[in-house]
Amino acid sequence: MTEENTPRHVKILIIGSGPAGLTAALYAARANLAPVVLTGMDLGGQVSKTHAVENYPGFPDGISGEGLVKDFNDQAIRFGTEIIFDVATEVDFSARPFKVTTYGEEFTADTLIITTGAAAVTLNIPGEEEMIGRGVSYCATCDGHFFKDMEVVVVGGGDSALEEALYLTHHASKVTIIHRRDELRAGSILKQRAEENDKIHFIWDSVLTNIPEGEKVESVKVKNVKTGEESDLSTEGVFIFIGHTPNTELFEGKLTLDAQGYIVVDHLMQAQIEGVYAAGEVADPHFRQVITSAGMGAGAAIQAIRYIEEKGL
Ligand SMILES: Cc1cc2nc3c(=O)[nH]c(=O)nc-3n(C[C@H](O)[C@H](O)[C@H](O)COP(=O)(O)OP(=O)(O)OC[C@H]3O[C@@H](n4cnc5c(N)ncnc54)[C@H](O)[C@@H]3O)c2cc1C
Repeated sequence: MTEENTPRHVKILIIGSGPAGLTAALYAARANLAPVVLTGMDLGGQVSKTHAVENYPGFPDGISGEGLVKDFNDQAIRFGTEIIFDVATEVDFSARPFKVTTYGEEFTADTLIITTGAAAVTLNIPGEEEMIGRGVSYCATCDGHFFKDMEVVVVGGGDSALEEALYLTHHASKVTIIHRRDELRAGSILKQRAEENDKIHFIWDSVLTNIPEGEKVESVKVKNVKTGEESDLSTEGVFIFIGHTPNTELFEGKLTLDAQGYIVVDHLMQAQIEGVYAAGEVADPHFRQVITSAGMGAGAAIQAIRYIEEKGL
């Protein structure tokens, strides 16, 4: 709230500071609309946690995730973006301008760009978090290349696990799928392709219980859920694909979400309510990349700018 106790008004309020949010901010700032970005708890978003991004164009030698989002951030600020280290705790779309409450302030906004991202579901076992970037990954497209001619394991039995396992066979010498059931629940074509691929092997009825810490992953502990027997399996990579959760709790009952909870947008990034846009992983269960998230962020901002012009706001 301002001194007069009235909410602060902005034309474009962006919730989230990952690649989608910071790219939206860059576009909105270059249109002289002085956007405000609420960073959330995680400035820079998911990619800031990775030590090497090799698939974002313009960086032939790769760049650290931290370095990439710092550049996104600096570029957005250079044109007049205001970055606020705060979390949106409530949104109200029932009247215009929209209302957004944070821990520290209250805003009204003519347009809202939601870029709150998503998070991979984790196994929550010892060593998992510590070994991220040292052999543990949640994205084959991002990290598969680092595992050329190595042996890796894939955890999961759904469509995305099989898609990612098949992708990994282009790099790894052997891909072992560890699944807690005794059959795959993935769709039949993927299942057939995986079963026919010589590089793919299966360990059924099993779960990972530990990823021993070290400089790099060297092995995992595997437990058979039927017999209770535990064994060590040598591996250099652990790819975990047991689902993704979009950060959309705040929007439940306020915007249309799909069955998995992702915000439903049209091809112009508009959510159910005119003037509300969503971009990046919060609205994208398919691609989950920095480039696609940034692209969606740019699109959302272009549409928000057009909306503001059309409505004379
Ligand atoms: C370890 C790791 C490595 C990766 N490596 C690569 C790679 O090499 N190449 C690649 O293309 N992709 C990679 N990815 C995927 C990539 O990071 C994501 O696709 C991308 O970050 C998605 O961007 P986003 O802006 O949609 O959301 P996110 O990056 O998820 O950012 C979401 C943002 O929303 C904020 N937020 C959430 N809730 C609130 C709230 N209530 N109020 C305010 N803010 C909120 C968070 O703080 C965060 O800033 C990697 C992902 C991980 C986890």
